[in-house]
This record gives sequence, structure tokens and C-alpha cells, in this order.
Amino acid sequence: MKRLSTDILILGSGGAGLFAALHAKKAAPGLSVTVAVKGLLGKCGCTRMVQGGYNVALAPGDSAERHFMDTIEGGKWLNEQDLAWTLVTVAQQRIRELETELGCFFDRNPDGTVHQKAFAGQTFDRTVHKGDLTGIEIINRLAEQVCARDIARLEEHRAVALIRARDGDALAGVLMIDMQTGKFVFVQARAVLLATGGGPTMYKYHTPSGDKSCDGMAMALQAGLSLRDMEMVQFHPTGLLAGSDTRMTGTVLEEGLRGAGGYLLGGDGQRFMHKYDPRLERATRDIVSRSMIAEIRRGNTTPNGGLWIDMRHLGTAEVRRLFKGMVERCADCGFDLAGGLVEVIPTAHYMMGGVVFARDCTTALPGLFAAGEDTGGVHGGNRLGGNGVANSTVFGGIAGDSMAAWVPAHGKLREPDEAAIAASLAVCRRPIEQASGDIGALREELYELMWDDVGIFRDAAGLRRAEGALVALDERLDRTGIAGRSLAFNVTWHDWLNLKSLILVSRAITASSLAREESRGAHFRSDFPATASNDDLAFITVALRGGEIVCDRETVRFTRVKPGESLLGADAA
Ligand SMILES: Cc1cc2nc3c(=O)[nH]c(=O)nc-3n(C[C@H](O)[C@H](O)[C@H](O)COP(=O)(O)OP(=O)(O)OC[C@H]3O[C@@H](n4cnc5c(N)ncnc54)[C@H](O)[C@@H]3O)c2cc1C
Repeated sequence: MKRLSTDILILGSGGAGLFAALHAKKAAPGLSVTVAVKGLLGKCGCTRMVQGGYNVALAPGDSAERHFMDTIEGGKWLNEQDLAWTLVTVAQQRIRELETELGCFFDRNPDGTVHQKAFAGQTFDRTVHKGDLTGIEIINRLAEQVCARDIARLEEHRAVALIRARDGDALAGVLMIDMQTGKFVFVQARAVLLATGGGPTMYKYHTPSGDKSCDGMAMALQAGLSLRDMEMVQFHPTGLLAGSDTRMTGTVLEEGLRGAGGYLLGGDGQRFMHKYDPRLERATRDIVSRSMIAEIRRGNTTPNGGLWIDMRHLGTAEVRRLFKGMVERCADCGFDLAGGLVEVIPTAHYMMGGVVFARDCTTALPGLFAAGEDTGGVHGGNRLGGNGVANSTVFGGIAGDSMAAWVPAHGKLREPDEAAIAASLAVCRRPIEQASGDIGALREELYELMWDDVGIFRDAAGLRRAEGALVALDERLDRTGIAGRSLAFNVTWHDWLNLKSLILVSRAITASSLAREESRGAHFRSDFPATASNDDLAFITVALRGGEIVCDRETVRFTRVKPGESLLGADAA
């Protein structure tokens, strides 16, 4: 096995990973920084896929306090308030950094100020964007800057285990697979950033990029860390439904379609949202998604089992002008968005939960830092659209600064626990030693069971069923081998490893969902449809102990504002 060493190792090259690399290098140019990524740098992950934009309070009349209150109320008071405050205040610096230091161009008003558009759940139009391709602008500029600096890159390198030092007290490094050769690599590091971006790709319909399989959260659980708010999975109402033979199924048709006046129709061609919410198609994501599933369960569906989105009444030319990208995406799959009907279905989009971390991005394991969608606590029970990329860039930058300060004072190149390396190698090699089986069929089973029993509607019976089914699925996966013996670019092997991570994290979502006996934010329990009082509000943590997922509760600390109060003056509110 190849062994490398670096001062700072960053896992992932989304907004969090690339910002961390730039900040770490700037703060401590003498330290070696390495970015290791499962895909190609700048070409993978979800930051690149950001369509809508980036929330930040910039305009006169808006304020960090207002952005904060929207974030806390959107998060149904579950957020770690100090993290949310850091998000809204540092975003104001980060957006300037993106424009003035890194070279991003965002859309502007005729007077030269940055244009900010409306996004759901916000009391002010604060979403900065570059047309409907904001993520490409951000990630391309970040990638260029990283490539221009003395930052090492390990592309197509997949992290598989966080390895503690021999004495167990701190992290020694990360076990990885060089996907090009199929060989194992151990990277010893003084500090490691987990920025692999979560991603709820265990659901039948999902939006995130194919390289995301919750590896970071799974590695954190295996390393003994706690995750929080794992029951909070956000579903976007309008995923494209283009049949089971295309990966385009599940990808997002942007919220602006409903915002601009698009209708949702049942299979009978009639609007149905009036049965569920007076705001009709413009209700919040969670309500529209639940209403859609309720309508689907009534059997009022399209040929592929979804619903229709209808933009025809807005005029073909206008729809083409406003939603060029969406019209083209639908045309690729044989649908005419501007002049016809398109099949849609709610789709798993984002995980509010993740690794418990502090404002400086430290975690409970010395030497391990975390940022971006791998972390929990910033968004609480629901994420505002536009707060995701703000989260990854804000905390990615902070993580880079923190690691640069921490390494000279505390960071050592520690000798790894060789037994832990051997144990992780054995898990990864398991499918190589078994007779080959149908990994695809196991993945389909995971999709279906998470969709049916741990999806938009949940209840105790379904969650208990899922608990057992996930353990059984994991055991079957362990007995299923991969075809072929060459490990170079063996995608079936990586599918197997993806499933291993996804099943473990699915167990965490299921346990957390069972533990929260109320409906709050993105989590809806049919058997507990009411939202409990905010008195004694607790967040749920999950950890892996002796192979079992164990839940715990911690009281939410309202450090800046209490439920029923506001940071805004009466006039501003
Ligand atoms: C279609 C879509 C549209 C979105 N639109 C918006 C929007 O308009 N506004 C908004 O705020 N948010 C939006 N989001 C959410 C937003 O993309 C994320 O919140 C944010 O970009 C996550 O950044 P990140 O750096 O944490 O992760 P990512 O950008 O996803 O990066 C994760 C990185 O980790 C790598 N990785 C994964 N596993 C491993 C491993 N085992 N080893 C090594 N590397 C690994 C990946 O290859 C990738 O490079 C959208 C998401 C999607 C899917």
C-alpha cells in the first residue's frame, strides 16, 4: 500500500473543500495542502449543480438579523443558533471575496448593485445568482484559483476510512482508494477536513450528483463521531420523472417554475393543490411535496406514477425566455415544458443533518474538521433554498483558517493504528472475495424501502420495518461479490462501497426518525402529525456503538433568540 503524508488533507472539492484549501494556503503558505476527491476537481459534487443562488443580506433594508430570523424560523428552531449567526454574518464577507478576490461575476441591477432574487421562505429578496447556473460560476472560479496555487491534488481518490492514531486519541490520516488503479493509499495528515457533501442518494428519486453517497457521514460514524438531525431530509417537489432507464429522473426542475405561476396537475389534468394549502403551488417545499404524495396515493397519477407540471398558460415564448435551461433539460428527455406537460415527482434533495461540529469547524476527534453538507446544526429542521452554498463556502473558509492555525500548535504526524487499517481494508476487499451478485438489485431495494418507509410520510410501523430491512440488506451486501478481478476503474466495486455507506447512513436516518415522535420541519410522522411545544426542544444525535445505531437527545440552546421572540425591532419584523 502506498503511503503519503501532508500537513492538511481536504476530502472533497465542492464549495467547502475548495474554499478550505484556498484559506488554509493563504493563512499558512508553508504548510502542504492536499485536496483528495472522488471525482475530478471542479467537475463533481453538488456545488457545481447549484442553479438558484446564494443567500446573503447585502441590500439596504435587509440585515444579518433578518437573514438569521428567516433561517431559524425556517429551521423550526432546531438550529444551533451560533452556527446560523456565523452563516449569515460571514456570508457577507464571503460573497465579496467571491467577486473581488476569486473572480466570480454575479448578475447585476442596472445601477451596478448585485441583483438578488426571491426564494421561498424568506422575507427579503436576497438570493445572489448568475442566471440559473450559479454553481458553475462559483466552482469554476474556485477550481482555477486552487490550480494556480501550490496545492496538491489527488483526483479520483476515494476516502474509505478515517484512521485514528495508535493511542486512539487523535486522527492519524485517511485510508483511500486510488480509483484509477484500484490500489489502496494511506494519507497521513496533521489535520483532515471532511467536506464530502452528504447527499441523500439512498432514495428512489434524488437530486445530488452521482459521486455522493454519504461517505463522509458513514466514515464519521465508523470513527465514533455523532451525527445530529439525521431525520431531517429535504424533498424538492419537482423532480423530473422521465422513466426508470435514465439518470435524469429525479433531477430538479427549479422552484422558479412554481414561483412564476406554474400549475401542478393530477393525472386527470386538474389542479389539486387547493385541497391541501391555500397558497396552492407556492406553498413551501415540504407542504407541496406532502400534498403531491397524498395525491399520488389517491391514484390520480400520470403514466409514470407522478403528476404534471403545466406552464402553458404563461405563454410558450415567455416560458422559453425565463427558463431556457429547464426547457432544454426537459426537451432532452422528450418533454415540451413551454408548450406541453412534464411529469414530476418529489425528489430527495438535501440532508440538514450531519456531523456535530463547532463554529471553528472542529469536531469531537482532534485533528478532524468538518464543513458543508457533511455537517449538521446550521439549518435545523429545514434549509432555506440558497443557504446551502452559503453554508459550504462560509464554513469551508473558516475550516481552512482553523486548520492553518491548529496545525502549527497541535498538529502532529501520528502513527496510524495498523489494526484499524487492516480492518478497513478487509471490509473494502469483502466483495472481491465473494461470488459475484446483483449489486443493482440491492440498490433498487434500498431505493424502494427508503422511499416507502423513511420518505415524505413516516410512521412507527414503517420505520421499524425499515430498521430490520436495512440490517438484512447490509448482510446480503456483505455476501454479494463483484464481477471481474481488475480493480482499476471497477465501477461495480465503487457501487458496492457506495451502498455500504448509504445503508449505514440510512440506518441513522431511520433511527433518528423513530426517535422524533412529532412532525417538525422536513420530518413528518403520520402517527404524530402535530408539532410539539418548543419548551424542552431537543435535537437527536446518533452514534454507532458495537455495530448498533444509538440515539441520544440534547436540549437546543436558544443562545441568541427564544421561540416567540425576534432579533428584529417591531417595525422591521
Ligand atoms: C441540483 C441541485 C441544485 C442546488 N441548488 C442550490 C441553490 O440554488 N442554492 C443553494 O444554496 N444550494 C443548492 N443546492 C445545494 C448545494 O449544492 C449544497 O448545499 C452545497 O453545494 C454542498 O457543498 P459541499 O462542498 O458540502 O459538497 P459538494 O459540493 O457536493 O462536494 C462534495 C465533494 O466531495 C467529494 N466526495 C464525496 N465522497 C467522497 C469520498 N469518499 N472521498 C473523496 N471525495 C469525496 C465529491 O466528489 C465532491 O467533490 C443544490 C443542490 C443540488 C443537487
